[in-house]
Amino acid sequence: CGIVGYAGSRPALGIVLDGLRRLEYRGYDSAGVAIVCDDELLTEKKAGKLANLEKVLAERATDPSSCAAGTVGIADGNTGIGHTRWATHGGPTDRNAHPHLAPDNRVAVIHNGIIENFAKLRGELEADGVQFTSDTDSECAAHLLSAVLAELRAAGEPDGPQLLVAAMRAVCQRLEGAFTLLAVDAAVPGAVVGARRNSPLVVGRGDGENYLASDVAAFIEHTREAVELGQDQIVLITGDTIEITDFTGRPASGKDFHIDWDA
Ligand code: GLU
Repeated sequence: CGIVGYAGSRPALGIVLDGLRRLEYRGYDSAGVAIVCDDELLTEKKAGKLANLEKVLAERATDPSSCAAGTVGIADGNTGIGHTRWATHGGPTDRNAHPHLAPDNRVAVIHNGIIENFAKLRGELEADGVQFTSDTDSECAAHLLSAVLAELRAAGEPDGPQLLVAAMRAVCQRLEGAFTLLAVDAAVPGAVVGARRNSPLVVGRGDGENYLASDVAAFIEHTREAVELGQDQIVLITGDTIEITDFTGRPASGKDFHIDWDA
C-alpha cells in the first residue's frame, strides 16, 4: 500500500524505513525492504507491523554470521526499496510480503495495485519452469523482469541502469491492471527503476540523492522538490539523475512541483 525508494550516498535502510513509517496512515498488513550493497541484494520481509520487520532487522544486525569482519550488512547499502502491503491476492503472510525476488536472488520487485492478468502470466512462467514462492499477483512481475534482463544480457546488451529501464519497459507492456512498481538489480548498484499505471508514483529531488514514493509524505523531511509521474511512465533514479520515459521508450516528463505544506 506504500512504496519508497532511495538512491544516493547515505545508508538507504533507515531512510526507507522512515519513509514507510510516514506512509503508515494508509494501513497495511506486512512490510519489507530490499537493499543493494556493493553488488549484493539483501532483503527482509515480515507480516504485521513495521515493528516486526524492524525486530528481525535488529536481530540480523547483531547476528555474528551476518556482521563478521569484512562482510557487508543490510544497513550498509546506499540503494534501496521498501514496501507496505495491503493484501489483495494471497493472505498477509511472510512469504506473500514484498519484495518478491527472482530465483537467482539478484532482482527484487515491490508492487502496489493489482495485476489483472497475473494468472495468465503465472501460467506461462510456470510452463517455462519458473517456481513461484508466493500467492501474490505481484510475484510474476519479478520473474518477468528477471527473464527479460537475462534475454537482454544474452543478446549482448550492455549492463547498467538503461538495461534495467529497458527490462521494466518490456514488463510493463505485458501487465494489465493497476501498478506502481519499483525494482532493484544487484548487478546495477546505485539505480532504482519505477513505473506506474493507474497508481501513484512521485519522485523526490534531492542533492546527490533522489527518492521515489507513492506519496510525498515519505520523503518530505529530506526534500520539498518533487516530480509527479504521468500515466504509463517509467522513471530511473540514481543519486545524480532522474530520467523519465514512457512505456514505448520515448523521453517524457512528469509534473514538477514544490511541496509547501508542513510535514
Ligand atoms: N496485489 C498485491 C498483493 O496483494 C499488492 C497489494 C498492495 O498494493 O499492497 O500483494
